Amino acid sequence: MMTGEQYVESMRKMHMQVYMFGKKIDNPVDDPILRPSLNSVRATYDLAQDSAYEDLMTVTSSLTGEKINRFLHIHQSTEDLVNKVKMQRLLGQQTAACFQRCVGMDAFNAVYSTTFEVDKKYGTKYHENFVNYAKYCQQQDYTVDGAMTDPKGDRGLAPHQQEDPDMYLRIVERRPDGIVVRGAKAHQTGAINSQEIIVMPTISMGPEDRDYAVSFAVPADAEGVIMIIGRQSCDTRKLEGTELDVGNSEFGGVEALVVFDDVFVPNDRIFLAGEAEFAGMLVERFAGYHRQSYGGCKVGVGDVLIGASALAADYNGCAKASHIKDKLIEMMHLNETLYCCGIACSAEGHATGSGNYMIDLLLANVCKQNVTRFPYEIARLAEDIAGGIVVTAPSEADLRGEVTGPYVEKYLKGAKGVSVENRLRILRLIENLCLGTAAVGYRTESLHGAGSPQAQRIMISRQGNLPMKKELAKKIARIQD
Ligand code: SF4
Ligand code: FE
Repeated sequence: MMTGEQYVESMRKMHMQVYMFGKKIDNPVDDPILRPSLNSVRATYDLAQDSAYEDLMTVTSSLTGEKINRFLHIHQSTEDLVNKVKMQRLLGQQTAACFQRCVGMDAFNAVYSTTFEVDKKYGTKYHENFVNYAKYCQQQDYTVDGAMTDPKGDRGLAPHQQEDPDMYLRIVERRPDGIVVRGAKAHQTGAINSQEIIVMPTISMGPEDRDYAVSFAVPADAEGVIMIIGRQSCDTRKLEGTELDVGNSEFGGVEALVVFDDVFVPNDRIFLAGEAEFAGMLVERFAGYHRQSYGGCKVGVGDVLIGASALAADYNGCAKASHIKDKLIEMMHLNETLYCCGIACSAEGHATGSGNYMIDLLLANVCKQNVTRFPYEIARLAEDIAGGIVVTAPSEADLRGEVTGPYVEKYLKGAKGVSVENRLRILRLIENLCLGTAAVGYRTESLHGAGSPQAQRIMISRQGNLPMKKELAKKIARIQD
């Protein structure tokens, strides 16, 4: 396994095409806006080296028998699924950001079991391709981006009906040695911090969409792969040289629009190429795993936000007020409810045909549906407790300013014994989590990441087994049809 430092060095050797603010970024690793997101992924390597976290962060590979980072593991039991969620909560607590490496882990497990099913039906070699690829990534200890979401164009039209045929990523050429693909994947968490990208389709597909039913892996710096970084609220604060005003200066998360401009994929890296009826299975499984993931990562970030809110109350001198105590209880209640769902869908998991373990899909979708709501309420309560000062506080430069400094020190004083600087630090952290760069991960990603709310409601309606519930009611009411 790599150390955090070795990971950073391996990323430095990549030749990715990264663009931000209209310019090509030649050295993303040391870019001040991008570096915090790399640090979050680095934490997945650093913690794996720490004996205190060894049981959560590392595991014996089912493919090689070697000790590997859990982020590259093919889950072998419900215990593995539970440990995955615990690991994600730990990382959320340590980074207060999206640490990005989960998408690859979720893609690994979804592709592993789906390729097994495709081969069973068609006699293809996708599962063998994937197993060899997974072993390679495990041995290199790579970070892998799991790329699913297409730009989608007109949402009312199927992939093959789009005016521009590239609105969903597709095969544009089939060659004896592989395929050429064109399209894009949007909102790619951690793409710029990954050595590899696994591409998957984004919706269920019919026979006419067969060129769109494609899954494969390419290096993140493969020829034709171009990444365009998404803007975030307050992103350029990281250029100002004030660590205090950033709120969380060490860690962050960054998304990119990843363009595949006629990228060649060799045969041994193809995991699906035209077997359209399996697109839905792959989507459902990946989304299921990632909906489980949110019952870990968002809970860990929530722990930090709840802690920050409690500190803000201490610093304001109102920690003893009964309504403040009650709001903190409510935040903890909501946060632990999310965790309960993450653990429950894991504990209720089952083996797939390929032998790896799958979460309970109904409970994973309930988990994610709650994640589309509770972090918003937790953030609302955090802002309630912190007060309006969370959005009106002066800058660090004014705290240090010759003229303004004494006024800021005098009028921003809170409880006795609390420094104004510490009060500002905690307010900036709350701002970062609720409204700044980390709000991408804690709020909007909670809503849309791993599928927007309606996607979970569709799954809940499919998995909820209403006919069985009607039978229960009929039996109790003594109804005989
Ligand atoms: Fe991992 Fe959460 Fe980020 Fe998804 S949103 S990659 S589960 S930290
Ligand atoms: Fe996400």
